[in-house]
Amino acid sequence: MNNKSIKGFCLHGSKRFHPGEAEAVECNTSIVEMEMPEPKEGEILAETLYTAICGSDVSATLSKPNFDWIQRPKVIGHECSARVLKLGQGNHGSLKVGDLFNPVAQLGCRKEDCPACRSGKWNLCPDKIILGYHGNGAFGQQMVLESARIVPFIEGLRPEFGAIVEPLSVVVNAIYSKCNIKPGMDVLVTGCGIMGLMAAELARAAGARVAITGIEQDRNIRLKAAQQRGITTIVVSPEKPLLSHLHEGVRDSRGMLFGSKGKVDLLIECSGISQALAEAILTVKPEHDVCLIATYPNNVELDATHVTRQSLNIKGVMGSHKEHFMIAQKLLVQEAFPAEHYINLYDFDHINDAFADSIRAKTTKAVIKMN
Ligand SMILES: [Zn+2]
Ligand SMILES: [Zn+2]
Repeated sequence: MNNKSIKGFCLHGSKRFHPGEAEAVECNTSIVEMEMPEPKEGEILAETLYTAICGSDVSATLSKPNFDWIQRPKVIGHECSARVLKLGQGNHGSLKVGDLFNPVAQLGCRKEDCPACRSGKWNLCPDKIILGYHGNGAFGQQMVLESARIVPFIEGLRPEFGAIVEPLSVVVNAIYSKCNIKPGMDVLVTGCGIMGLMAAELARAAGARVAITGIEQDRNIRLKAAQQRGITTIVVSPEKPLLSHLHEGVRDSRGMLFGSKGKVDLLIECSGISQALAEAILTVKPEHDVCLIATYPNNVELDATHVTRQSLNIKGVMGSHKEHFMIAQKLLVQEAFPAEHYINLYDFDHINDAFADSIRAKTTKAVIKMN
C-alpha cells in the first residue's frame, strides 16, 4: 500500500450529452485523490484490480435522464475484481487478507421482513444499495465494502476477466431464469453493447441460432466481433429498419434463412432504444418471449394490442444475485464466454480515453487496470 495516493474516477457533472458525444468525459467527470476511510464493523478495505466500464457508467457520464438519481460527486464503477487488503471488526467468515473476489453490485437491506432479501434476491430489494451509485465504487483504486457483498473467486479465474463477472451474471440471470431457450431456437438480440454480445454468446451456448443487431457505427468493431464468432449480424438504419431486413430474409453464416417468415422464437432486447424495442416485438412468434435487459431513457410507446393478440410474454431482468455471480465465474473459467475476444484493456492513466472510446462504441468492453 505504501504512501501512494489513491485516485478515483469521479462523476460530478450532470450536463446532458447525446450518445456518441465523448466531450461528456471531460465535462462531467474528473480524476480525484481519495482518502480511504477505515473499514467499519462488517466492512473490508480492498484493492481494486480491474474495473470494467458498464453501459450504465457511460449513460451516467452522458447524464441520461434514467441516471439523474445518482448523487454527485461519486466515484462510480460496479463491475470489478478486487483483493482484500484489510478486514474491519466483526465476523467475515472464511475471508482473509489477500483473497480475490467480486463484490455483488446490489446489496439488499437483509431485513427479516424483506421478501426479496429473505429469498436471497438482493437485486429485487426495494432498499438495495448499488455499488458506485449509492456509495463510492470500483473506479477508485481502493474501496471500502460491506463484506456481505463478497463472492470469492473460484480457482483459475483471471482478475482481468473477473471484471466482467457482474455484467455476465446479469445475462446469466436473463438466460437461465427468464428466457427458456431450447436447442434449435432462432434468437434475436437487439443491441450489440456487451450485454447484447454476452446474451448472444450464452444463447448460442444454450443451443440457439443467434442474430444480433447494431447500427452503422457498430459495423467495424462490435458487430465484427460477433461475426468473427459465427453470430449473424444485422445493421439497422432508418432507411433499412429491422422489419425490412427480416422481411427480405436474413441469412446466417451458412447461407440459411434466419427465422421463419420473418419471425423469431425469442427476442432479447439489449439496446435501450425505445423504438428498437417497439419494432422488435413485432418480429416475435405468437406465445413466445420478449426479454428486456436494458433500461430506457423515456417511456416506450409500443403496440400493446399486438402483445395481446400475439399472446407475447414480456419479461424484465433486474441485475443479478450471488448465485448468478458464481455461475458467471464458472462460465469464464470454462471459456463458455470467451472474455479474451471481447475485452479491451486500458491502464488507469488512460481511463478518460477508455470512457471516450466506450461512448463512441470503439470498444467491445473496456476494462481498466486500476493499479
Ligand atoms: Zn453494469
Ligand atoms: Zn431487502
